[in-house]
Amino acid sequence: MSICILIVDDDRLVVEKLAKGIGWERIGIESVLTANNVRQAMKILEEAPVDILLSDIEMPQGSGLELLEWVRGRDLPVECVFLSSYAYFAYAQKAINLKSSNYLLKPVSNSEMEEVLAALVKDIRGRRQVLEKEDRKEKRHLFWKTYLLQETWNGAWLERARQEGIYKPERRVCLHLLRIFPGVEQKTRDVTLNHFIVRNVTEEFFEREESAGRLEAVVRRCDSEWFLIFEAGGMGESVSAYRQCLERTLSMRICIYIGRDCPEAELHERRKYLEWIEQEAVPGDDGLVRESEWVKKDVKALTAPWKEWEQEMVDVDTVREVEKKVLAFIRRLWEDHQVTVSVLERFRKEMMQMIYRYFDRQDLLIARVFDGREFDGDVIYTGALDELFGCRYGRLPYRSLDFRFEHYAQPSYQGHSVVNYTVSEDFTRITEFKFLTGQRDTDGTTIVKEYPFAYTGAEGEIPYYAILNEENMALYGKYRALADGIKRFHLLGRLAEYKYYNMDAMAKKAMELAERL
Ligand SMILES: Cc1cc2nc3c(=O)[nH]c(=O)nc-3n(C[C@H](O)[C@H](O)[C@H](O)COP(=O)(O)OP(=O)(O)OC[C@H]3O[C@@H](n4cnc5c(N)ncnc54)[C@H](O)[C@@H]3O)c2cc1C
Repeated sequence: MSICILIVDDDRLVVEKLAKGIGWERIGIESVLTANNVRQAMKILEEAPVDILLSDIEMPQGSGLELLEWVRGRDLPVECVFLSSYAYFAYAQKAINLKSSNYLLKPVSNSEMEEVLAALVKDIRGRRQVLEKEDRKEKRHLFWKTYLLQETWNGAWLERARQEGIYKPERRVCLHLLRIFPGVEQKTRDVTLNHFIVRNVTEEFFEREESAGRLEAVVRRCDSEWFLIFEAGGMGESVSAYRQCLERTLSMRICIYIGRDCPEAELHERRKYLEWIEQEAVPGDDGLVRESEWVKKDVKALTAPWKEWEQEMVDVDTVREVEKKVLAFIRRLWEDHQVTVSVLERFRKEMMQMIYRYFDRQDLLIARVFDGREFDGDVIYTGALDELFGCRYGRLPYRSLDFRFEHYAQPSYQGHSVVNYTVSEDFTRITEFKFLTGQRDTDGTTIVKEYPFAYTGAEGEIPYYAILNEENMALYGKYRALADGIKRFHLLGRLAEYKYYNMDAMAKKAMELAERL
């Protein structure tokens, strides 16, 4: 971190006296340049990395104040000390406006000058250190983002990160996956606010937490998930306190999946493992799942006595007793270590089917259940028609899409916003967002690949495209006949009508229906 000074004075003797008389090395200045007029000084400032300008004010070919104005106009990171024979208020005022660091009146002793310059050098070094630290932190954050979120990277990129000391393959780190569960109220909250809170609370909490490993980075995986990278040891014993603190700040439930320590070189693989655990494991009340304690269990295909419970609800005309039995059943599953995410998903679906069947047998309309009397106005239904009737004739087939995001540390991936792939690839489309939004960011680019798959109705899947063929239309016709039997009930949209609509066509259709009603 060398520091360079430029001395400007039309009096050659003053320049020489300063250049030879000051103990430059002692006060931390490595390079001393000199000029006898403003023009010479400007040329030097354009070519050399000058940190401090020590300038006279009144010079025949242009004043030191004009020189500093020129420096500020170019945004050069230069500190300035004026050395003048005149104590004019106007000069001092202008010097302050131009953010000069000091204004000294000649004659100045060498020791006085050394004291002023040494303080300035200390200040410059301090600021540089902060900037370098920030810059390094930013670089590391970018590295973790690419390393963790991207499926593949270029070997040269990793090697460069290694040479810069950002990536240390042998160093042991610990990965955590944090997931938030927004309630109905928080779902409308801006997701960037959640990210801001998670990042800031996490950084502040672990800055002062001595029982935890050092926090390396907080990387957003999606709107509700973050990777937290720590030095070996991870959050240690502070995990529960941290979780409570973040839960209080966000006002929502949080789960943390805690990985094992591993070398940085293995982190990418550990990430996949942790994601898999997240998909399978159901955290207990403490909201924590530890990789070191979690083993994939052989889950027995336990089926609840749905038919029996359904009959009981019909016979006794109350759901209270069955509700207790459902809770007891889940508790037993939990105690037998039989609870996984997929088990609970299946359980919820089967329970919904039971409730639909019960409603059906009781000849109950949902509207009557909610407010005690049948709603007799118009109802517009935009959801999936098969699901409305509990998929009783089987599911209407849809094509769904798996959107996989990738980030690349390069200015562009494909040079266009959208490229469609009809046969050559497993994916059908690549969208590169920066060409849609007109971003000029050259550090990286984010794309999404769309992989088609058959919709099964599993949690998280979305039915995107109706598959229009004779067989499916016949199935739709059966559901349609059921809906036609309901008075003042209108089916609208791609799901209810089992059709493909473009947005404009859909909006037109909706407005026409509203007009008619
Ligand atoms: C992947 C994809 C890409 C597309 N790209 C384009 C494009 O580039 N340009 C274009 O013009 N069009 C595009 N479209 C089409 C466009 O999205 C649709 O035309 C439009 O969204 C259809 O509106 P909709 O109201 O029918 O369905 P949706 O927008 O899906 O709305 C249905 C609504 O019903 C609600 N709902 C579901 N179930 C229930 C229930 N049981 N009870 C109550 N409410 C329920 C849903 O929450 C949803 O709000 C695309 C469609 C897809 C799937």
